Amino acid sequence: MQAAEKPENNPQTLDMKDITALCKRRGFVFPASDIYGGINGFWDYGPLGIELKNNLRDLWWKHMVVTPPIGPDGHPVQIVGVDSSIIQNPRAWVASGHVGGFSDPMVDCRETKKRYRADHLIVLKPEDGEGAWIAVLEDDEEFLAKRLKKAGKGKSSSDFEHINLTEIETSDYDKVLAPEAKEIGTLTEPQEFNLMFETYVGAVRDEDAKAYLRPETAQGIFLNYKNVLDSSRVKMPFGIAQIGKAFRNEVNPRNFIFRSREFEQMELEWFCHPDDAKTWRDFWFAERQKFWKLAGLSDDNMIMRDHDSDELSHYAKEGLGTADIEYRFPFTAPGYGELEGIAHRCDFDLKQHQEHSGQKLEYIDPERENERYLPHVIEPAAGLTRGILALICEAYTPDPDRPSGVYMNFKPRMAPKKAAILPLTAKDGHPDKAEKLYMELREDFPVDLDIKQNIGKRYARQDEIGTPFCFTIDNDTMQDDTVTVRERNTMAQERIAMDQVHAYLSEKMKA
Ligand code: ATP
Repeated sequence: MQAAEKPENNPQTLDMKDITALCKRRGFVFPASDIYGGINGFWDYGPLGIELKNNLRDLWWKHMVVTPPIGPDGHPVQIVGVDSSIIQNPRAWVASGHVGGFSDPMVDCRETKKRYRADHLIVLKPEDGEGAWIAVLEDDEEFLAKRLKKAGKGKSSSDFEHINLTEIETSDYDKVLAPEAKEIGTLTEPQEFNLMFETYVGAVRDEDAKAYLRPETAQGIFLNYKNVLDSSRVKMPFGIAQIGKAFRNEVNPRNFIFRSREFEQMELEWFCHPDDAKTWRDFWFAERQKFWKLAGLSDDNMIMRDHDSDELSHYAKEGLGTADIEYRFPFTAPGYGELEGIAHRCDFDLKQHQEHSGQKLEYIDPERENERYLPHVIEPAAGLTRGILALICEAYTPDPDRPSGVYMNFKPRMAPKKAAILPLTAKDGHPDKAEKLYMELREDFPVDLDIKQNIGKRYARQDEIGTPFCFTIDNDTMQDDTVTVRERNTMAQERIAMDQVHAYLSEKMKA
């Protein structure tokens, strides 16, 4: 059977409304507290969403911890995992800089009562000086087009200078028309807004009891650096990996699960001698792109972008810089949005924790004549839930030639269900045979046994959830123990022996 070319699914032509609707209809992602009207910035993962999320999580863990990549010396690198607490001693967040500095500039619109991150607003300043300065959210091409139509006085995007709101004098705010506002001059001056969620530990709610939900998983790794070194046999260079929830009280959660207030990260802190930082940075740049390709993102929709000098965090300024792996999401197309950041954090975090905790965190290197140093860190920090969104957008393939009108082209290794077993009818012994096959496969593959409804509807459902193979049991199966395999992308069908199905699927999962 020949695999056909995948129909065009250029993110530029996809509509997020269709993608969000499919996610809800088929049980990938639901708004959190849906029956109460939701809660902005929070999402729940449904029966298929959790499978997809686990598959990406497991692929990352395997790639990092179980079978870590081969290093420049031809041997596998050393990486171990941790699972740290979401709430840590609040002093850790003072040391990391999050209490003082983890904030975004925020502006409010007095008219619409909406709040925006100032650095996410682009102001269109008319080149001819005539008319309002139109503020729009960056990366929202659709809104920009609508807004220009309404308030642009017949001008097009190129008739304006595009400036970030943070680069505009606040005295010019009275000329700015906020997104969705009718009046000009309704934006307040920017104020710093700390993104950490606060809570209280114990029965007394005072300043001493204040704690934070972690805004990143990375610090949990630095806090365990010494414990890992003391308890395991890792030697420099080595990595510590962690996957888990992070919480940020984002000013503008938006674009579905792209920017939410509760999300999951997959972070690696790679510790090395300062002299080797460049080698390892280049190594992880290459490895991380390979990973996303393996997960199913195409080269066409992915780029690696170096941060401009004004984007760099304090620690990165002294180091080798930061680069992002970006994906062309439908709402950023033709541009890209961050999927993963790979930063050279120097020795910033360990130095801070050493100072604030009073504990020595230096490494004594037996390979370098017992040299004492604070290692440098290369940090590939990826979003798990943002990764899911990229996989969903990449897989979403409109196809007017099939009843569902769309199918999800997940790679077999990422698909929530690897196969569906469909008895043609609910009689004539078909369901029993189907259940027998289901029992043979389910130990090794997540498979669906779907008995009721006409076969066309069942295929349509499997297409929409991205199941790569359907095995149909019919009257011929009762005679000769063969089944029909239907391949999702091509809809081509072939007949194979029932006792070959397991081997067939195993082979296909390598793709
Ligand atoms: P941004 O500039 O978009 O706010 P960031 O550069 O602060 O993000 P990092 O702190 O580097 O993000 O976090 C690493 C990864 O975690 C990001 O590349 C992204 O995939 C994910 N991530 C960060 N914030 C969010 C969020 N609010 N919702 C979902 N994923 C997020």
